[in-house]
Amino acid sequence: MGVRPRGRLWTRYLLASTIPCDTTMDPAAQYDELLTRVREAFLLTSTSALLSWDEQCYMPPGGAAHRGNQLALLAGLHHERLTHPRIGELLCALADSSLVADPLAPAAVNVRELTRTYRRLSRLPRMLVEELARTIPLSQHAWVAARRDNKFADFAPWLNKILTLKRHEAEALLDDSYGPGATLYDALLDEYEPGARAADIAELFAGLRNELVPLVTKITHARQQPNRELLRREFPLDRQRLLAEEAARAVGFDFHTGRLDTAPHPFCTHIGPGDLRITTRFKTNDFNDSFFGVLHEVGHALYEQGLEPEHYGTPLGEAVSLGIHESQSRLWENAVGRSRSFWQHFFPRAQRLFPDALGAATLDEFYFAVNEVEAGPNRVQADEVTYNLHIIARFELEQVLLTGELPAADLPGAWAEKYRHYLGVTPVTDSEGCLQDIHWCEGLLGYFPTYTLGNLYGAQLFAAARRALPDLDVQFARGEFAGLLDWLRENVHRHGHRFRPTELVERATGEKPSPRHFAAALAAKFAPLYEISL
Ligand code: ZN
Repeated sequence: MGVRPRGRLWTRYLLASTIPCDTTMDPAAQYDELLTRVREAFLLTSTSALLSWDEQCYMPPGGAAHRGNQLALLAGLHHERLTHPRIGELLCALADSSLVADPLAPAAVNVRELTRTYRRLSRLPRMLVEELARTIPLSQHAWVAARRDNKFADFAPWLNKILTLKRHEAEALLDDSYGPGATLYDALLDEYEPGARAADIAELFAGLRNELVPLVTKITHARQQPNRELLRREFPLDRQRLLAEEAARAVGFDFHTGRLDTAPHPFCTHIGPGDLRITTRFKTNDFNDSFFGVLHEVGHALYEQGLEPEHYGTPLGEAVSLGIHESQSRLWENAVGRSRSFWQHFFPRAQRLFPDALGAATLDEFYFAVNEVEAGPNRVQADEVTYNLHIIARFELEQVLLTGELPAADLPGAWAEKYRHYLGVTPVTDSEGCLQDIHWCEGLLGYFPTYTLGNLYGAQLFAAARRALPDLDVQFARGEFAGLLDWLRENVHRHGHRFRPTELVERATGEKPSPRHFAAALAAKFAPLYEISL
């Protein structure tokens, strides 16, 4: 199936020029020392994660400055530990050892991935790292104000500054190991999606865009439309929480090793073995936002809970990429949670919990309402069909922003043009348009495409699971989800960093990543709902 594990020579090549090897110890002892050092660094990250979770969920606003100092110290210590020259010596020595002879053995995977991290971190000049760390909070501040005042021009100089710094970062990172034709954008993308290249993603996305644009037009003009008011009735918050927890438990979220709290922005964070936190927000008049928000975060959590605990603190015990992570959240949120069979089981329960809102509704009416499609200017509120068009627009724009082909000052116009073209909508204001996301002001370039990769990978994995377990719908209708979870644990979760993301998908599904399954899943669901022909 064309899997290409990276071998010893590759690791050796990356390190040989700069680091003296330690050839005095035996490899097993060197590997032990390496893991001890790396696991300590991981403890620092997990401590930061706990502090960040507290900051989002419970910290009083007055604690912000002190928390910032705590997190900055931990980040500095973490960077210092992982770029310690001793780590370089050990990695260099292990690159030629018998421990890594089999490229898929745990030691080989860990040495390969730690070398990758070490190389990335050590190539970044300290001055650049510090300049970015100093600029990002100021840029965030400018973004918040510009969004409030609806004035992109106030943020443009900051975006320019961030782009310049990220260009320097990419220049520092890009070397021959990326292969011929690699771009600066690839060097940034690689942090979130190891091994991914913009040219491959562009090809994947072009195929997807050609399917999505006409589908959105047909759905928008369909005569059959869902009852948009149904899920905006009154849904008491305590009962929303009850239903969300029941669904989370049913699909396999373990409340003994995880908890659900409320926070302004939903997220999932893995504190350590046996301790996983997810958050959501509940709104009385919006059933979809919190219920599917919980299922989404549960999908992330199930992935983390499915990593092998004995490898915790090493790359083999870590999620491989943001794209694969998002594939798990989207799979549970959309393929499972927005399926008719899922609601065959949960709708009667929802009716009992919300008799005023749902008592008179039918399963079909409700199922149509949870699958409402509406092209709009906002990404976060976008539905399953239109969401990826928001991402494709950002992916295309951030590449030309990085090269400088699109000057930062011209972003609003370019943004509006993409939206008109892909979604048929024009943002009325800058805040509704190019100021809506926090990513760029935080220096997160190359991050957006992982959302759509997640949707594509998720659909492809779900299609493969369905082939392996043909009665999945019958299981869902009975409230049984263990069959699917076991399949995902076996084929995705337990592998950690063993394979590159695309290799993992190919091994699990028998084919290279393609937009085909996602497009087919949309057609199968939305053509009958909206009574359109495709
Ligand atoms: Zn997510």
